[in-house]
Amino acid sequence: MQTFSCRCGNPLFFENTHCLSCESEVGWCPACNNIVALEPLDNGGYQCTHEGCGTALMKCHNYAVENVCNRMVVMAEGHADTLCDCCRYNDVIPDLDIEGNRERWAALEGAKRRLFHTLDLLKLPHGIEGENIRVPLSFSFMADALPDQGLWRSTAKQEKVYTGHANGHITINVKEADDVERERLRVDMNESHRTLIGHFRHEVGHYYWDLLVKGQDEDASCRVFGDHNNPTYSDALEQYYQQGAPADWPTRFISAYASMHPWEDFAETFAFYLDMVAVLDTALHMGLSRAEYDGTLDSMLQAFHQVGMAVNELNRDMGLLDLAPGVIAPAVREKLTYLHQLIHNADASPQTN
Ligand SMILES: [Zn+2]
Ligand SMILES: [Zn+2]
Ligand SMILES: [Zn+2]
Ligand SMILES: [Zn+2]
Repeated sequence: MQTFSCRCGNPLFFENTHCLSCESEVGWCPACNNIVALEPLDNGGYQCTHEGCGTALMKCHNYAVENVCNRMVVMAEGHADTLCDCCRYNDVIPDLDIEGNRERWAALEGAKRRLFHTLDLLKLPHGIEGENIRVPLSFSFMADALPDQGLWRSTAKQEKVYTGHANGHITINVKEADDVERERLRVDMNESHRTLIGHFRHEVGHYYWDLLVKGQDEDASCRVFGDHNNPTYSDALEQYYQQGAPADWPTRFISAYASMHPWEDFAETFAFYLDMVAVLDTALHMGLSRAEYDGTLDSMLQAFHQVGMAVNELNRDMGLLDLAPGVIAPAVREKLTYLHQLIHNADASPQTN
């Protein structure tokens, strides 16, 4: 991610709603694609103060009313409850009567905005129901049933919510936005890291399998990731939870979980690719690397390795977890080569109905 600049000269970050120096309200301007200081207008709207832009804007409903967003909508296209280009993908939002859920929702939205930023860097297609996209994308943020005054109150039809993807619909369990819960799950599942943004990147990987591979490129995908019809997903899932990952998984997979089934391998590898693009984009803007996030795969992997090693050591200096894996196995590199090509081709071919 790049940093942005306030009209007072202070740096602004992707998540900011205020400038910490001049106290201007700030937000994402969809006309010039920047975090900008907002000049209030008499009609209740705002003007983008970015040089050469000046677009009349209004706050996304989830910014103005719910305080979980920092995006603006072009005023001419908006009305009172208009949602921004990220919030409009929401299907179900967390139950805000439950304490802490507004903060968790804000964290989920922050991760989702970063996800879309990376998808848009790669020009990956996406759209909602009613738009000209073969598989519409949507999100639900839901919680497990909660004990409420001795009774169990379900916030959804089922009592337990599974983070996952089905037919373009991504569900994230709200507890993944709870630091204590998420770290407990990470340790339970023996994962090298577990993050909110990582969940979004993994689940959107399943979405892009449906959009770009299903019924179109399945043979090529099978050659790289294995046959997704044999074993079936449910058989593979049961086997994984009984026996765990094979001992040699690091030579064949990006993560232990990727060994479960070819679909999970695809999603895990896709998530790693998005991790790499996001890190390279930041490294480029911060002057840590000169490699482009959309260069050749070799140049991307090499730059990610160099930046990753530096950041791993910085993290160890601070007692934090490693950021990047030490080595990428040849088999994983082959999968990344497939994804790299798939993502580049997606930009050229429309994914419409
Ligand atoms: Zn300022
Ligand atoms: Zn602007
Ligand atoms: Zn919004
Ligand atoms: Zn998955």
